[in-house]
Amino acid sequence: MNDILPAQTPRWQQLESSMREVLQAYCYDEIRMPIVESTRLFKRSIGEATDIVEKEMYTFTDRNQDSLSLRPEGTASCVRAALQNGLLHNQVQRLWYMGPMFRHERPQKGRYRQFHQIGVEAFGMQGPDIDAEMILMTARLWQKLGLTDLRLEINSLGSAEARGVYRDKLVEYFSAHQDQLDEDSQRRLTRNPLRILDSKNPDMQAVISQAPEFAEYLDQESADHFAQLLGLLDTAGIDYTVNPRLVRGLDYYCKTVFEWITDSLGAQGTVCAGGRYDGMVEHFGGKPTPAVGFAMGLERLIAMLEEADIALPDSAPDVYLMCMQAQDMNTAMQIAENLRNDIPGLRVLQHCGAGSFKSQIKKADKSGATLALLLGETERQNNSISIKHLREQQDQIEIPQTDLSSYLKKALQKA
Ligand code: ATP
Ligand code: MG
Repeated sequence: MNDILPAQTPRWQQLESSMREVLQAYCYDEIRMPIVESTRLFKRSIGEATDIVEKEMYTFTDRNQDSLSLRPEGTASCVRAALQNGLLHNQVQRLWYMGPMFRHERPQKGRYRQFHQIGVEAFGMQGPDIDAEMILMTARLWQKLGLTDLRLEINSLGSAEARGVYRDKLVEYFSAHQDQLDEDSQRRLTRNPLRILDSKNPDMQAVISQAPEFAEYLDQESADHFAQLLGLLDTAGIDYTVNPRLVRGLDYYCKTVFEWITDSLGAQGTVCAGGRYDGMVEHFGGKPTPAVGFAMGLERLIAMLEEADIALPDSAPDVYLMCMQAQDMNTAMQIAENLRNDIPGLRVLQHCGAGSFKSQIKKADKSGATLALLLGETERQNNSISIKHLREQQDQIEIPQTDLSSYLKKALQKA
């Protein structure tokens, strides 16, 4: 679980604000859910025979002996919240959330025990157009951020019935190759054989690659849905690879599943994953409600932004306000406040506390400010303020305090 230090937060803000802009452009509304939920919620949605539920959740009993868990992902909470608050009554919803998720995994690059996701969920729309919208939205984010090293893999998991038939075929196949299955996969053989395809164990890849493919068992409706979705992506100019081995571990995923993957981060290459889960709302007691969503891993995206050395917006102060005598403290504070009133967005760093001219100007320089504003003996007598350019060779000038705002607007090109 990481501290995110001031040197790193500008990256986070860059990512978060870009995604907010994208979400606004598609008219998604933010929802905020609690970080702790009843353990049962996750067992019932994510599925008992998944890595998350079997070994990754932070689960504890509270003072009432209720079993609670720190949320390992957001979809289950979002469905619960939407249902409980009547958001799914005869209406469509486009929702998003952001925040920490918790999984007790082996920490390594791109894999942490507290990590952050932005999750997006859409309810009440069954056609492939909303699936396409999800993908276009993420593609727009990559473009906005300047991330290029990402590829889209996509697949269809079909209807529950079709998956049932396929499931039996998988059990048959993997049972015939039991000696090649690792311990996890042995256990999943009867409980959740699809999940075997998602195994990260390199020793399992050979037996997995020979397994029957789902495409043969895909039902007509899902096949049409998938074909239409691919058509929409083609029209939008989005490149993709159909990966018949792509499964998502959740039992309620159906039809569309997709992942955005990068080769620039090593083993932890999936930065965004999602799909359709038409069965979940009904499973939680709601009316049958089609749903589709995705979650992206912010740590991995931040690592990509760092790796690609994407420029950060400038966050240095515009002006550093120096004040030489304690008796000028009042004036200095007023000047700083007036500037913030007069010039929206201006970053004013006021020197607080005492200090010689030399030490203050050193701090001004170190802050990265464009200009230093000086308030000393002479300035007090003249009701003036002196301005020193810290980044370019220019003579220091002294102007009336009343002219300061208009001077700075011009000098810093602030509207
Ligand atoms: P992985 O296969 O990498 O374990 P997952 O299938 O468990 O991923 P999801 O539950 O689909 O992951 O979560 C969506 C995204 O959240 C992932 O694609 C990844 O970017 C990010 N993510 C998941 N687990 C972690 C983690 N422990 N640390 C950092 N990011 C994570
Ligand atoms: Mg995982």
